[in-house]
Amino acid sequence: MILIKNCFYIHSPEAKEGGRGWDILIRGPQIQKIAPEITADEAGEGVHVIDGSRHVVVPGFVNTHHHFYQTLTRNVPAAQDAKLFDWLVYHYEVWKYVNEESVRVSTLLATGELLKTGCTATTDHHYLYPQGFEGDLMALQFESARQLGIRFSPSRGSMSLSKKDGGLPPDSVVQREEAILKDCERVIGQFHDAGDFSMSKVTLAPCSPFSVTPDLMKETVKLARANGVKLHTHLAETIDEEEYTLKHFNKRPLAVMDDWGFVGPDVYYAHGIHFTDEEVAHLAKTQTGVSHCPSSNMRLGSGIARVIEMRKAGVPLSIGVDGSASNDTSDYLGEMRNALLLQRVHYGSDAIGAREIFEMAAGGGAHILGMDRVGQLAAGWAADLAMFDVFRFDYAGALADPLAALLFAGHKHETDYTIVNGKVVVEKGELVGYDEQKLFREGHAAAERLLKLSSE
Ligand SMILES: [Zn+2]
Repeated sequence: MILIKNCFYIHSPEAKEGGRGWDILIRGPQIQKIAPEITADEAGEGVHVIDGSRHVVVPGFVNTHHHFYQTLTRNVPAAQDAKLFDWLVYHYEVWKYVNEESVRVSTLLATGELLKTGCTATTDHHYLYPQGFEGDLMALQFESARQLGIRFSPSRGSMSLSKKDGGLPPDSVVQREEAILKDCERVIGQFHDAGDFSMSKVTLAPCSPFSVTPDLMKETVKLARANGVKLHTHLAETIDEEEYTLKHFNKRPLAVMDDWGFVGPDVYYAHGIHFTDEEVAHLAKTQTGVSHCPSSNMRLGSGIARVIEMRKAGVPLSIGVDGSASNDTSDYLGEMRNALLLQRVHYGSDAIGAREIFEMAAGGGAHILGMDRVGQLAAGWAADLAMFDVFRFDYAGALADPLAALLFAGHKHETDYTIVNGKVVVEKGELVGYDEQKLFREGHAAAERLLKLSSE
């Protein structure tokens, strides 16, 4: 049981005028009550009391696109200035050395950074299964995520179309389709929990139209729908991709996905930058979701997603940090700030406000990942929340609107407390489940190993 007392500001439909001085009571995995005064007696014996008087309390953010393993190849000089396809071709040669330790430590690094920047639930899109990789990749990921306590919905990704068959990746990182489908089925059976407040869900995610065959796409759709799990892939990220599908299928990317049945309310795409008006209408009609990744889009010069038009049309939208080789952080609050600013570059300063970004980040993400009663602070909803200390000099002068201050001001972007499923996972700014300096050393060593092997 946790009682958060005397909050400076609560972003909740139940807390009037920001709930200044209000309290939040958490029992088990849920929020029990948000009210002006809750006593420790009411909470009962053994309650953990947290002082919220310096904090803006927000629903935890839900990250809808990432590639954790890329945390080990951030900011690699040879790919710092490359466009997507060249960037990928370079990195495949490094990533083919990803081993079990790379997966374990990169999952800890990415989830740790997410938790510390306000994110309480995340997916991961791991599509890279190098030849010779031993061990159970998804089990390693679930174990690391459990250790730090994040709500986790990773995808079993895949690549099956290598260079010799007309795709982009080399042979060394693709798998045979039968093996992929068999493992997808196993992973759903072993890890997918569809229950209330599930901490562990599985998504199926062929990597992209240029690294997977049409057959695998179609078979994956069948398998996902037979098991009631979500589908995810990259789409409309670059003009190169558009040229690829026009050349190979004589259709634009979304039309190709339509042919494969890879659209619908159980599908969400990463990026979704280059959609036409008709395509935006089609996404809205089919309720296909989009994970907007502004930092990566800026980093790779991929373009500005049409978030404003998609919102207006009613397309389900969320925000993702994308893989750490194209961000190169998992700073979720920073991603929200970039989402706010990047739209304004194209559409003007009145196009989108801070509150709409908070909605995309929490409720929008939870909807897209199929997490019920996640993404809002209210009684009966999951106790997933982030507490940012705004009584700091970098917020001085910005507190006339404490919620928007988190995006417009501040430079630390780190929570003081993060709570997931009723458990404190960041306390006084530190991860609870792992030593951060040890994590740095392990991450640094794993990254050095990859670069060394790839340069030999
Ligand atoms: Zn991606």
